[in-house]
Order: sequence, then structure tokens, then C-alpha cells
Amino acid sequence: MGIASLLSVAAYVGLFGESVQPWATFIALGAALITSPLIAWATGGRYYLARPANPVIGHTCCICGKDYESEDLAHCPAYQEQICSLCCSLDARCDDLCKPHARLGAQWGGLLQRLLPGSARPYLDAGLGHYLLLMVGILPVLGLLIGLLYYQEVLALPAGDLARLDALRASFLKMSAGLLLIAGVVAWWLVLTHKSRQVAQEESNRQTELLMREIESHRRTDELLQKAKETADQANQAKSRYISAISHELRTPLNSILGYAQILDADAEIPENRRQAVNVIRRSGDHLLSLIEGTLDIARIEGGKLTLDLRPLDFPGFAQEIVAMFEPQARGKGISFDYQQIGELPASVRTDPRRLRQILINLLGNAVKFTASGGVVLRLKYQREIAQFEIEDSGPGIPPEELERIFEPFSRGSAAQASASSGAAGGTGLGLTIAKMLTDLMGGEMKVESRPGQGSLFQVRLYLPQIHNVQAASPRIRRVGYVGVRQRLLIVDNEATDREFLVNLLEPLGFQLAQAASGQECLDQIPRFKPHLICMDLAMPGMDGWETIRRLREGGLSDAEIVIISANAFDQGNDNEVGMRAEDFITKPVRIDDLLSWIGQRLKLEWVSADVAPEPASAPPPTEWRTPPPDALRALRAQIELGYPRGISGKLEDIAADPAHREFVEVMRRLAKQFQFDSMQEIIRKALAEHPHAT
Ligand code: ADP
Repeated sequence: MGIASLLSVAAYVGLFGESVQPWATFIALGAALITSPLIAWATGGRYYLARPANPVIGHTCCICGKDYESEDLAHCPAYQEQICSLCCSLDARCDDLCKPHARLGAQWGGLLQRLLPGSARPYLDAGLGHYLLLMVGILPVLGLLIGLLYYQEVLALPAGDLARLDALRASFLKMSAGLLLIAGVVAWWLVLTHKSRQVAQEESNRQTELLMREIESHRRTDELLQKAKETADQANQAKSRYISAISHELRTPLNSILGYAQILDADAEIPENRRQAVNVIRRSGDHLLSLIEGTLDIARIEGGKLTLDLRPLDFPGFAQEIVAMFEPQARGKGISFDYQQIGELPASVRTDPRRLRQILINLLGNAVKFTASGGVVLRLKYQREIAQFEIEDSGPGIPPEELERIFEPFSRGSAAQASASSGAAGGTGLGLTIAKMLTDLMGGEMKVESRPGQGSLFQVRLYLPQIHNVQAASPRIRRVGYVGVRQRLLIVDNEATDREFLVNLLEPLGFQLAQAASGQECLDQIPRFKPHLICMDLAMPGMDGWETIRRLREGGLSDAEIVIISANAFDQGNDNEVGMRAEDFITKPVRIDDLLSWIGQRLKLEWVSADVAPEPASAPPPTEWRTPPPDALRALRAQIELGYPRGISGKLEDIAADPAHREFVEVMRRLAKQFQFDSMQEIIRKALAEHPHAT
């Protein structure tokens, strides 16, 4: 452009003669056309704008977001993406990264480096090059301006006045020198300003790059974390699968044990002396079941699979039930148990009764278990829909270092070790973990304060909304049959004991029963037996329960009601394609009431009941606790002091002769079996204190 302009201006002012003057514009055009490729050839195409064609990945400009043909896009090293020619020419922030040596400053610097000696190079970098470039631009303009002014002044002078001409020249020279000085200072000031802006820009670029690197490293860390989380999730799922498989294996035999114990318990013909054995089986079974469920609970809560089963709860009845559960235990240990209710309790609240019971049983169980003397207090306060349970004991307390990890799984403290060494049953260290997790899940909080040697105080605060307009709870009925047509039930389970348990339970109620030991057998029996209802186990060798249900439904073989009776508690939460709902699942060990209610509701049965039993939530009548006469007590104490088990058992035998003391003897026998002589002494001391003349 420069060359073409110079040539055409020169032609226009007549430097190349009058005949060339009219062709000035064409000279400019021709010069540009010829010189451009010549410059490209001379510089090896370094400043040529078009980049080599690259395989374009996208056809969208990264700035304006519009689609272009690939020829209109180029890769921009500043944005590291495709950019269109318009955005490229308008962008001022890229600093021409794609052609770093093409800028005027860079070309000038290159020229100076070639012209000046090597020793001048550091000065060039410090801004000398830039300064010289400015001066090269300023000086001709300044010279031209002053020259023109001087020329005008000279023309205005009378011809031959040499003295004034000299004076004029001298003053113009002084003015030029002054202006030159000012131009130099201004140019240097501009160079410095530019330099500092450049340094700031470089610093900002450096910081941006560091930031980008930081972001990139965060992204990588995030990816690694995500991967680690996925691995942990997979491990957790494997653990859950393992736990659910184990629970299935344990629940299946337990189902038979507990089921038969329930049947025996309900049998009026069982002799009194065997009834206790049945009770022990039931209690042990229940304990085992709670252990399995505890482990399952932790797995389920951790896996986010535990959902709360919110339903109305008779709150005062519930409190009584809890008290009735722990009062005899505390009495049996020779410690007191106080229930203090602060204010009124609502008749009914909405909560998950099973989980609430689990939390309180755990805390109260610990308090009674670890307290050797003194007592346990359960305080219950209900205010503005918040229930606050306080469990205070006068036990050994918890040292501060244990207090920190008390809610961690499998943490058993010094209190547990002390009670284990005195013969009491050891805990698993899971109870408080589950209780805390459940409290958190229910949106509440659990706190603990403890002073070693003085006792502990556990506080649980829970939101238990009151339910108004409560309908009277239906009394529990003992079903002995039903009215109407006989119903046919098909029991599908590969475990013969489980099938027989259900047969023994359901046949006496008037159902017609058939059994199938596998999915295939079930399908074979359907056309002949035409059941109204099918009890289906899920885990069976060969065709499992799901597949059997699918074939039944898809083949239109039967439209019987189906209830799933499974030992795997996790199945309930599974989505299934055969349309089984959560309420159609009954987990083993089967709760007889639940199963019969479900059957009654689905088959629309009208039950015939034998009698009306009290609600399970209401407290059982307190057992009679009468202490033997002081003489008998003292005789027993003498044997305890000797530590002579046979003697103790002999004295207890004597006391048992009076049936009024049955409860006392039972408690003492249990303590004697565990060699808890201190507790026995404590009970006797209290009993003697109650007799006014005894010492
Ligand atoms: P465990 O089933 O072994 O009792 P927990 O999780 O319920 O397990 O309790 C963990 C530990 O906390 C116990 O081993 C015991 O050392 C301590 N602890 C819990 N409650 C009390 C309490 N009321 N008094 C003293 N120590 C307690």
C-alpha cells in the first residue's frame, strides 16, 4: 500500500512528467498488484494472512457461534478453536498470536537487530527500538512542518535583507531544538507507558495461564474423585449384596424357628413348664433377628435405601410399652427405673414406630445394662410437635476420649468391657451407630453428656407431628376362621419347612392348600388347582419367583392375587416389571397378623374371631412383685455372702414354695446364674429396708 501510494502521488504531482500524470490511479493499482506477490516471495510468505488448510473439526465460529464454510474459518491459537475471518479481524485481545513476527514493532525490532551492533541489543529490549521507531515517525513530520513555516517566513521577507534572514534562521533553529527536545521526552514517556502496559499485560497473561492450569488440575482431581466415588459405590453395592445374601441365608431357617415358636406360643395345650422354653426360643430368635436387621439397617441407611414407614402411633400407649419393657429389667438388676412425663402427650403422633422404638430401646437398654447401682430415668417432654426424650443413668459414665467415637460403628467402650468381665452379655457396638443414623434420618438430633463415675445423659429430639381426629384403633383379633366359600391358596417355596409353616398356620383357618417346591411346579399346578391366592417365594433354584410371576401374568394362566414372601428385605425396594407393589411384600420371618390382614383384605374375607386380645402397644399388666419375709431374705443373704451357688439355689427353692414370690425367685435365679452377687445383695438390702422391723 505504501509503495503504491508513493508511486501514484509522485506521478500525480508530475514527478514522472505530464504524460504520466493522468495515469496516477492506475499506477497505484498496478503497483499494488505487482508488489504484493513480490513481497510475499521476498519474505517467504511469512506475513501472508491465510493459514494452510487444516481439517476443520467444526464449522462454527467460537466467537459469534455462526456456521461457516471451512474456508472461512481458521484455527485461532489464542482461543484454541475455529474462528471466522470477521471475528478474527475484529478481535483485539489475541495480540496477533497467529503471526507473532508480523507486527510493525516486531519487524522494526528485527531490522534494528540486523543493523545495530550486538552490544546495543539489551537497549533494544529495554525500549530503545520502540523509541527510535517513534522518533523516525515524529522527526520527518516535525521537520516538514518547521520547514514549511520557515519557507513561508522567508517568502514574507523583503529580498536581500540578510540580517533578518539570519535572525529568522537562528530563531527557527532554537525553536526546532526545543521542539526536538520536547518530542524526545514525549516519545520516551510514550515508550515507558507502553512498556508498563506490556508488563501488566504479560503479568495478567501469566496469572490467567496459572489460573487455567489450576482449573485444569481441579478438573482432573474432580475426575479422579468421581472415579474413586464410583469405585466406592461399587464396593458398597457389593457389600450390600453380600449382606442381603447373608441375611437371606440366616432369615430362612430363622423363619421356621420363629414361626413354629409363634404357633406353639398360641397353643393353649402347651404345659406351663414348656412354655418358658418356647418363650426362650422366641426371645433368642427375636434377638437374632434384630442382629440381622441391625446389620441390614446400617447397610440400607448407608446405601440410602432405608425409607421411613410413617403411620399414626398411639403415643401414650407407646410410652407405657417402653416403660413396661424396661421396668422389670431394671428391677431385675436391683436398680430403680423412673418415668417422668413433662406436660401432656398427644393421643396420636405420626412417625415410624419401629424406628422410634429401635432408638429408645437402644438407649434405655444401654442405660440399664451399664448401670450397676442407682437407677435410670426416662424423661419425656412434648412441646410444639417436638418430642424430647432424655435417658439419664447413674452408671459408670463415658470417658471424654470415648465420647468422641461413641457413635462410630463397632466402638465398644470401657463400660462394655467392665460389664462383659462381670458376665453380662456383650454388645456389638452397633446399637448407638444405628440409633444416631436413624435419628438423623428422621430429621432429629441426638446428644450425649457424660461424667465418668457419675452417669450419662442421652438426649433425643424428634419432630413428631400430632394427628388430630384419631379414629379408635381396631382391637387385635385372634382369627379362627372366615365366613363364606372356601378359598384355595397355593404356596410356592423351595424350602419345605417354610411351606409347612404356612400350611400349619393357614389350614386350621379353613383354607384349601396346595404346595409347589419350584416355579415350574407352580405353573404345572395352576390349571388343576385354580388358586385364589398364591404365596410366592423369590429366591428359588431354577425358575425364580419373578420369572414365575411374569409367566403367570403374561401367559394369562391365572389372575390369582399374589403375595411375595421373601427373606430378602432388599427386594421390597426394587422396581419390578410385573407390577408388584411394596405392600405386596411380606418379609420372612412372617408376622402372622400382617399376612392374615393382607389375605383378608385381598380376598375380602370376613374373619371369625375367638376373642379380643388387648392391643400390643398397651402395657402388659405389671407382674406381682412380693418380697419374701426378712428371715428368708437374711438366710439367702448369708449364702450369697459365702458365694455358694448350691446354697443359694436351695434357699431360693424354699422361698419358691410360696407362689406369691415366684417373680422374686425367677429374678434371683437369673442373677445367680450370671454370678451377679452384688446385684442380688442390693435387691435384698432394699427388700429388708422395706420391712419396718428388719435389720
Ligand atoms: P453395644 O451394643 O456394645 O452396647 P452401643 O453402640 O450401644 O454398643 O454402645 C457403644 C459403647 O458406648 C458401649 O460399648 C459403651 O461402652 C458405651 N455406652 C453406651 N451407652 C452407655 C451408657 N449409658 N453408660 C456408659 N457407657 C455407655
